[in-house]
Amino acid sequence: MTVPRIQLNDGHSIPQLGFGVFKVDPAETERIVSEALEVGYRHLDTARIYGNEEGVGRAIAASGIPREELFITTKLWNDDQGAQRTRDAFDASLERLGLEYVDLYLIHWPSPARDLYVESWREFAELRSSGRVRSIGVSNFLVPHLERLLEETEVVPAVDQIELHPAHQQPATAAFAEEHGIAIEAWGPLGQGKYPLFELPEVAEAAAAHGRTPAQVVIRWHLQRGHILFPKSSSRARMVENFEVFDFELSEGEMQAITALEREGRVSAHPDEVN
Ligand code: NAD
Repeated sequence: MTVPRIQLNDGHSIPQLGFGVFKVDPAETERIVSEALEVGYRHLDTARIYGNEEGVGRAIAASGIPREELFITTKLWNDDQGAQRTRDAFDASLERLGLEYVDLYLIHWPSPARDLYVESWREFAELRSSGRVRSIGVSNFLVPHLERLLEETEVVPAVDQIELHPAHQQPATAAFAEEHGIAIEAWGPLGQGKYPLFELPEVAEAAAAHGRTPAQVVIRWHLQRGHILFPKSSSRARMVENFEVFDFELSEGEMQAITALEREGRVSAHPDEVN
């Protein structure tokens, strides 16, 4: 299965579909990520705060997959913001992953109460120059946070990773990102199971029409919208299901019906409140 790649604004590209490891138990991570690699995933999304970078690194090492075929993302946690702390936190993440470079490093949340994200962002640009990070980006940044980065540093993030699923599509952030060439990564792409997305008629009917599962329909909706996504599952059957989405296509009408499910239905915290 060939996963399409999305071109980033810095010349690199990223597999559009990956595998996320939020809430994957550190003790289980090596086994679960090894399964995901066996299924065919080549893009992994972790973070320092998930506590499972070592397990991700062990699975990568054990897989024997050439490094250049993998795309690995990790993230700077809020209490590591600030220039020196960012440098130290990055070194520690790289060591836990057992890698010589990561493909993408993200500021996990703006954490506005700390007022350090611009300082960290300058350091991110240095890390990129060092070659130990290929691409740099942000996560949970809303328009005001992005505007401030662009005004104060002129370094445009390659991606913004935001909560995004049919009930919460963040149109203002997505439009700003598109205008500035920032790719959108959708976290919680299945709504984290926090609302009955799969039972909504717009999703269920498309699933029945294509002989697919509702999860496959929602993943397909993201792909056709141009989002990068990395649904999480600890079950091998679901890893396979979530990966088998490149041999059917939603019609324009089905796409529109799912897009019309927007209702500002955030399922997690507001970025200004995570500090
Ligand atoms: P998700 O929307 O991927 O939902 C995961 C839930 O859906 C799990 O409970 C899983 O069991 C269930 N699921 C998965 N596949 C299914 C299927 N085929 N059928 C039915 N249920 C299925 O939510 P997520 O894990 O929070 O988001 C994906 C990734 O995004 C994370 O693993 C992480 O890498 C990233 N993330 C980033 C942030 C951030 O702040 N940057 C926050 C949350 C998650």
